[in-house]
Amino acid sequence: MAKKLTTREEDYSKWYNELVIRADLAENSGVRGCMVIKPYGYAIWERMQAELDRMFKETGHQNAYFPLFIPKSYFSKEASHVDGFAKECAVVTHYRLKNAEDGSGIIVDPEAKLEEELIVRPTSETIIWDTYRKWIQSYRDLPLLINQWANVVRWEMRTRLFLRTAEFLWQEGHTAHATKEEAIAEAEQMMNVYSDFAENFMAIPVVKGTKTESERFAGALETYCIEALMQDGKALQAGTSHFLGQNFAKAFDVKFAAKDGALDYVWATSWGVSTRLVGALIMTHSDDNGLVLPPNLAPDQVVIVPIYRSEEELKAVSEVANDLMKQLRSKGLRVKFDNRDTQKPGWKFNEYELKGVPVRIAIGPKDIEKGTVELARRDTLTKEFVAKHDVVDKVISLMAEIQNNLFEKALTYRIEHTTEVSSYDEFKEVLESKGGFISAYWDGTPETEEKIKNETKATIRCIPLDAQDESGNCMVTGKAGARKVLFAKAY
Ligand code: AMP
Repeated sequence: MAKKLTTREEDYSKWYNELVIRADLAENSGVRGCMVIKPYGYAIWERMQAELDRMFKETGHQNAYFPLFIPKSYFSKEASHVDGFAKECAVVTHYRLKNAEDGSGIIVDPEAKLEEELIVRPTSETIIWDTYRKWIQSYRDLPLLINQWANVVRWEMRTRLFLRTAEFLWQEGHTAHATKEEAIAEAEQMMNVYSDFAENFMAIPVVKGTKTESERFAGALETYCIEALMQDGKALQAGTSHFLGQNFAKAFDVKFAAKDGALDYVWATSWGVSTRLVGALIMTHSDDNGLVLPPNLAPDQVVIVPIYRSEEELKAVSEVANDLMKQLRSKGLRVKFDNRDTQKPGWKFNEYELKGVPVRIAIGPKDIEKGTVELARRDTLTKEFVAKHDVVDKVISLMAEIQNNLFEKALTYRIEHTTEVSSYDEFKEVLESKGGFISAYWDGTPETEEKIKNETKATIRCIPLDAQDESGNCMVTGKAGARKVLFAKAY
């Protein structure tokens, strides 16, 4: 038997790290903060990509690709943008290596210094808006709705597999519009696409809202976000969509001629989700036995394990298994028949439990006699025998049931871990004893926000969309007309 995982209760952080490694999702690399995404982890990311990409295309976006390197001068064109990212930029200064004259090995050739240093993109607004200047002349060129799938680099100091890495994979949408209203509608639409994806595919309930000024994306006028709650009561920002106003159009001189011929700057949005979502998926649903994957994103939704002693038994079992696999696949399900003879059934059961495959089917000689199969659910860890001719229908309904069960479980957790407080003392007490989201009134000043952050480590996760009009007295300063916001300690 493989060693058991550290439990969530014992050490949540250790449980997470062990799980990522043991479920074969990713591992640390020789470069600090950068991870190797292993095939199983990458397969989950590919499923996410496929669904998101479909949703982007259904909302009129097209994919394109822009360079990894951004000339330093582009970066300095939008002041708040450069301020926000300066502290975590990787910079290319040279383009050649050579052998050291003293034989000590390879060194950077000092003569091969770049005339202009290049930033490894932490996000692509600047290079994209420099390009958009050439693409946009008139209202006929708008809206421009582009997405790119790429890697970016942010030199993060405190990293954690998937959740925060120095290099990560993501998509970044960059759109250009003729009017402010249209750009805001786009930013809101993409927040809704993210929330739809999180809830219906990842089975993660999210709160939609806007960020406070201090938490806003560097260069944005408004940042919309989706916030999720992990099983340890900490929040995770799962996706962001920014209304950028005309900031980048002004910085890169992107103007368009309106129908009446008048020239105006273009309105912009950008939006992104990253491999952080894989971390969110793990942290939301998994248990002390390993990963638990929602059927809509599981690379394998069903695994069939044969039970046999002799070659003859294997042959009989395989016939039933292959036939079942064919039927399930014809219904669009992702099914694997694990007939490897290098591992015992018990080992395979453990493995698929650890890897979170939603449904496991075991078939042995006794089942063939009785015309049944054994069906096990990963989410509830329950087993039952099902008549062979009912299996396909049963599995299809189970997919929806498991998907729904995971969402409901996560939603119940979030509801139970969202507390309304009216005083700062109560706030601190709830934060320490229970964690989770805390809903409270804040006077809207960065000073109060900073004070709360310094004293409690909790940050304002968002101003929830459904509470945008509520007002009361600030829990810290008592000022009237304060806004209702959601606080939490966050990843
Ligand atoms: P931003 O461009 O800062 O709005 O971030 C876009 C998306 O990337 C958000 O969904 C973030 O959660 C995610 N993200 C930001 N930094 C990291 C990181 N270091 N590792 C993984 N994901 C990140």
